[in-house]
Amino acid sequence: MDFNDSPEEAAFRAKAQAFLQKAVKPKSDDSAGLARTLSDKEYLAAAKAYQKAKAEAGFAGITWPKEQGGQGLAPIYSVIFGQEEAKFDAPAGPFAIGLGMCIPTVIAFTTEEYKQRFVAPALRGEEIWCQLFSEPSAGSDVAGLKTKAVRDGDEWVVNGQKVWTSGAHYSDYGILLVRTNPDVAKHKGLTMFFLDMKSPGVEVRPIHQMSGGSNFNEVYFTDVRIPHSQMLGGEGNGWTVALVTLMNERLAVGGSSGPDYKEILELARALPTANGGTLAQDGAFRAQLADWYVRAEGYKLGKYRTMTALSKGQTPGPESSIGKIINANQMQEIANAAIEAQDHFGIVVDQGMAPMEAAFQQAYMWAPGLRIAGGTDEILKNIIAERVLGLPGDVRVDKDVAYKDLPTGR
Ligand SMILES: Cc1cc2nc3c(=O)[nH]c(=O)nc-3n(C[C@H](O)[C@H](O)[C@H](O)COP(=O)(O)OP(=O)(O)OC[C@H]3O[C@@H](n4cnc5c(N)ncnc54)[C@H](O)[C@@H]3O)c2cc1C
Repeated sequence: MDFNDSPEEAAFRAKAQAFLQKAVKPKSDDSAGLARTLSDKEYLAAAKAYQKAKAEAGFAGITWPKEQGGQGLAPIYSVIFGQEEAKFDAPAGPFAIGLGMCIPTVIAFTTEEYKQRFVAPALRGEEIWCQLFSEPSAGSDVAGLKTKAVRDGDEWVVNGQKVWTSGAHYSDYGILLVRTNPDVAKHKGLTMFFLDMKSPGVEVRPIHQMSGGSNFNEVYFTDVRIPHSQMLGGEGNGWTVALVTLMNERLAVGGSSGPDYKEILELARALPTANGGTLAQDGAFRAQLADWYVRAEGYKLGKYRTMTALSKGQTPGPESSIGKIINANQMQEIANAAIEAQDHFGIVVDQGMAPMEAAFQQAYMWAPGLRIAGGTDEILKNIIAERVLGLPGDVRVDKDVAYKDLPTGR
């Protein structure tokens, strides 16, 4: 394992830091943050302006081919920029799915003409993309999806429903996984398309979340027509195309963005207990803190291992699934402990009134979602069991059965 940047990586990191210092403000405990202080519309405008600045400074599409407007650099540089960006209050969220998952899939599977049309505007922050995979009865088992597309001349006609589509309400385009053949096993009858989210028959209904926001949506399709030329990867190859998207998703999702052991220690130092002294002096709290510290350090070292592999031009394997399990669970535990420790002040969720405490409440409400998005804990544990530890595979009774013969496929 190599803990140090190479000279090229150090130079890139310094350049990234210089750009970020000019473009955005550092994160701080006493600031409520852009996402909380701006309206949704203002935040989106700030995100588009930031993405444009990134593109102009050469920090957008870091790993993408130069001919597509990217920087043609190795994945390690993308990780380095992400590490530095995470220290700032950068409004990057609205582009995470489009640039992290959708456009790489489009680059891999569409024609030169479409690449010329769509890649650069996405990089410059002019167009936003969403990922339309999950359905009410097909999340972990996304290959069991029901939304269908039927060919009609040079077009496909789509009917069905997606759910949990992040950012669909402000997206211009989306990548859409549908069933085109119910007569073969579920994985084999899928096809991927991209579509204009303003197409007639697309209805986006935001879902209101307990955190107060509405970041994801139900999306209904009623006789939506998609040109055949917008198929990605060929008819019946949707599963292979989806795996490319999901591989990018597993790399993108997982970093902790909430308060960690350092923040709860800071809080504990200020919280008096009934026995006199502070929570930080309490034996049970200190034992728990030690556990969080050990896990955080273990995660950090695992991440260095991934970075060393990336730095040598290798691709990290399924073991990188461990990161999200550790981070999301740790975030939930720490937020839970902090809220309990604050007693009745634990209900303050307004970051303007109580910035540091409210960060724990926000994490408390976000952590369950993080444990589900991009693969649930159980699915990631299955991946680790099967592909890292070599344990026997999960039971898959429907593997070779035609989709139309499954109880859910009728
Ligand atoms: C914040 C957030 C953003 C999202 N954004 C998007 C998006 O933009 N686009 C999109 O398409 N989807 C999105 N999703 C949906 C996400 O991909 C699904 O929620 C996820 O795949 C889980 O599917 P599900 O909700 O249907 O749960 P289910 O798959 O029904 O799972 C229910 C429970 O059963 C367990 N389970 C399921 N299968 C197994 C198994 N084989 N072994 C053991 N346990 C199992 C799960 O772990 C879970 O605890 C988002 C979700 C969240 C939370």
